[in-house]
Amino acid sequence: MPYEGEYAGYRSLRRIAETARVQQLLRRSRVLPAESLGTPAAPVSAPVAPESLPEFTVAVDGSYAEVDVRNGYPGAKVGYCSVASVLVNLRAVDRLDESRPADPVEFRRTEEAAAVDAALPGSNVITRDHSSARDSFREAVFDVLHDAIVDEEDRTPLLDTYEALLAFKPGQRPQVCPYDYDGCDEHLTVARGLSTCACPRRRPIYSTDALRVHERFNDVGTNGEVFGVVMQIWERVLLVHLLRCFERRGWLDRASRLAFFLDGPLAVFGPPAWLSAAIQTELQRLNTKVRAQTGTDLVILGVEKSGGFVTHFDEIDQMEDNSPRFPPRSYFMLTDHYIKERVIFSDSPKRYGADTYFGRKFFYKTASGARIVASIPFLTPEQDTLDIDDVALYPQFSTACALLDKLVTSRYPNALSPLVSAHAQAAIPLHLGAKVLQQLARALMRP
Ligand SMILES: [Zn+2]
Repeated sequence: MPYEGEYAGYRSLRRIAETARVQQLLRRSRVLPAESLGTPAAPVSAPVAPESLPEFTVAVDGSYAEVDVRNGYPGAKVGYCSVASVLVNLRAVDRLDESRPADPVEFRRTEEAAAVDAALPGSNVITRDHSSARDSFREAVFDVLHDAIVDEEDRTPLLDTYEALLAFKPGQRPQVCPYDYDGCDEHLTVARGLSTCACPRRRPIYSTDALRVHERFNDVGTNGEVFGVVMQIWERVLLVHLLRCFERRGWLDRASRLAFFLDGPLAVFGPPAWLSAAIQTELQRLNTKVRAQTGTDLVILGVEKSGGFVTHFDEIDQMEDNSPRFPPRSYFMLTDHYIKERVIFSDSPKRYGADTYFGRKFFYKTASGARIVASIPFLTPEQDTLDIDDVALYPQFSTACALLDKLVTSRYPNALSPLVSAHAQAAIPLHLGAKVLQQLARALMRP
């Protein structure tokens, strides 16, 4: 094995790509034929924007970092995760838009942010009476959800929402005891709260062990991926939590005054992917109530900033004469066939993302010409399809497009201003302790 960075010294990456071994491998691998041979993405004009849009958006976005710490053990690391929610008053943004150029200080006043953060043990950081960094990490993941109170008046912890989702987890395949690394052979179904393993050592099992994130934990080295998974879970559980708080307070009748934006696709990847189906079940339950009270669906959008779909949209939006394929205010709803043929090759009969997604992707070119890769949730069983590309299935699709037109930021190409703000808040949690629900309550109670 060469030392890290050694290749850079004597052979550039371009030259590696040209070597006989790499070229031989590529000759054996599948090549996607030129654009004209595949199914082309055919942009469709976006539906006419509805007369009234939601007045508020709540954007949820997290960030994480792994930092070296000094505790006397080599390579000790700690993960720092932060999730921010930003409430944007769209009416106030409208008023500012009328008097462009908007004053940035005034613009900040249209946003109110709340962030919660947590430090998680990484490699070689062992807390209290634990015998390993992994067990310290497991306890910290539980504590984070247990201690995270979003609403001072409700005081229901995020753990309550997580455990409501856990109740939807299929239980037929008991998982390996988290102490298998230490010789335990038990298999168990993880219960709510705190329980113990059935083996004679009776060590603690946390409800969050069902996420199985600890199975990816590295006792030596980096845990960046693990902290990323924790953040992804936290963001998605927070979205469901906010909606459940609304339900408890009897605010679901006001749900159409709000739109929710989530950073990334409407999906959960890796060992906790079972959460995806659980979130979908819970969102459908809540949406049934919302429909009964408002006659329409919740507005929830995931927005991707990077990845294969973002790259693909960039690539197909160029015609041979360099003109854009997608006119402003046009969309393309991705089907299973299209994804498998053009984006992520597969000849499996299993639907793309069947185990991980609780929504489906579409490409949208905003009125201002920005390319957005977004996803819209499966809020009814009929909406749960990647075969039908009729947007009439999604009553809030026109609202989604109109919101994207409105929120695209000029500062960051192809990103939305609430998500940019949420990201900034997550990166620097100045508003620690501020509570988005209180702010929302004040905002929603105003006439
Ligand atoms: Zn055990």
